[in-house]
Amino acid sequence: MMYIDENCINCGACAVECPVEAILPPGEPIATGNGKTEEPLSDEHFFIVPEDCTECAGLSSVKCVAVCPMDAIKKEN
Ligand code: SF4
Ligand code: SF4
Repeated sequence: MMYIDENCINCGACAVECPVEAILPPGEPIATGNGKTEEPLSDEHFFIVPEDCTECAGLSSVKCVAVCPMDAIKKEN
């Protein structure tokens, strides 16, 4: 599972690069379909919605990790 840690400076670069729009800005409710939402995973920094992240399977690189200037995106097994 990919996650963003506290080193994030909210530049937004990862969200732009994510091919499945799995990265949301701080405080943004998570849309779960049928007009419903869940609480954001962070109010402090950008966060990855685990249910949406494909870990960039099949792509040549992990897009969000490749652009993050703070090395703030990690993989938790
Ligand atoms: S690993 Fe890929 S799919 Fe997952 S959040 Fe990062 S860019 Fe998006
Ligand atoms: S690219 Fe890195 S520093 Fe920028 S918003 Fe994403 S996680 Fe935060």
